[in-house]
Amino acid sequence: MNNKPDIASLVSRADTALTEVFKKLDATAFHNQKKVMDAFYRHRISEQHFYPTTGYGYNDKGREGLDAVWADVFGAQSALVRHSVVSGTHALNLGLFGLLRPGDTLLSVTGKPYDTLEQAIGLSGEVGQGSLRDWGVRYRQIDLREDGSPDLNTITETVRDNGTIKVVFVQRSRGYSSRPALPVMVIGEIVHAVKSINPDVFVMVDNCYGEFVEVLEPTDCGADLAVGSLIKNPGGGIAESGAYFAGTKKAVELVSYRLTSPGIGAECGASLGHTKEMIKGLFFAPHAVAQALKTACFAAYMLEELGYKSSPRWDAERHDIVQSLELGSPEGVCAFCRGIQRGAPVDSFVVPEPWDMPGYSHPVIMAAGAFTQGASLELSADAPMRPPYTVFMQGGLTWESGKLGVLYALEELLY
Ligand SMILES: *Cc1c(COP(=O)(O)O)cnc(C)c1O
Repeated sequence: MNNKPDIASLVSRADTALTEVFKKLDATAFHNQKKVMDAFYRHRISEQHFYPTTGYGYNDKGREGLDAVWADVFGAQSALVRHSVVSGTHALNLGLFGLLRPGDTLLSVTGKPYDTLEQAIGLSGEVGQGSLRDWGVRYRQIDLREDGSPDLNTITETVRDNGTIKVVFVQRSRGYSSRPALPVMVIGEIVHAVKSINPDVFVMVDNCYGEFVEVLEPTDCGADLAVGSLIKNPGGGIAESGAYFAGTKKAVELVSYRLTSPGIGAECGASLGHTKEMIKGLFFAPHAVAQALKTACFAAYMLEELGYKSSPRWDAERHDIVQSLELGSPEGVCAFCRGIQRGAPVDSFVVPEPWDMPGYSHPVIMAAGAFTQGASLELSADAPMRPPYTVFMQGGLTWESGKLGVLYALEELLY
């Protein structure tokens, strides 16, 4: 064991150094918890909201209560929360198709959107699948500036000069790229810039991985629509599928017509008994997000001390739950992912290997052992096998289990 770093003393230094960081995370969690509890109080959440409905699901109290609570928590006029939306991508697709019409232009102002949206927009994939492009919706993009901030001048000019722009699209999280996540205040600045030129343009935010990281959500700052997955942050590790839309009455209504049918909107949709898990998930979400953030800060601290590059840095302000760690070699990436897998509650005995995932240009390795398949508020890590061999890690439903996962990862990495 000579020349190997003393992990125990490093952990104790981390525990001391992170005290102040954790205090801030706890304060944010407390604030967000209060928002949730106040909304439960205001909308009188009770046992009756948990009863399942079947068939058309008319007058489903649980569905209506959950939508109302969600709108309050997100500082929005209206919300739609449905277990039947299969993923974040599905939700974003519904949002885009709900707001855009043939001849309109979609303007992404945070560079290229998340990979899985490419085919929905029609940037890749076959003609005729029913992408936005097939429906005559044009696409334009403004990249983030060198420092990761939005190019407000170009955004303003573009919205002024192009009268066909109907949706300005913002991705809050870094996703799996090297750009930083956007602070909610900055999203507010984008909203302000766009609305000052044309208040009829919708600002739609891909809010995946961002919920409850800050005390405000994009909808608190005027965004027309925020969209996210319930098997990430706002499901609190409890919701087993689904997604949400929060925003203005008009935007959410348009999405509801796309989700079901014009004329039906949000009035139908049997809950089949899934409402309780979504309400309970929202209750747990502020705390669970803080647990994931503590795990991320700890990982960043430990790896930085060991000489690796991390983003965000351990003591940096956070705007999403994703932590990227530059491990520098394929062996490093695989070792780290083996350790994260070992720290999972489910499938901890499995050894992850890189594989040629459809749609990716490089083999990808993924570590995940979640109670809910694919849930990434649960501890998980993935990496494309290409230089600089960066792992993207997120989640950790409890800080204790997240810490253990990171310690296993260090063990694999160093010994
Ligand atoms: C996860 C994610 C998506 C897509 O969600 P899926 O549930 O994986 O389809 C979109 N955007 C961002 C930023 C994400 O993190």
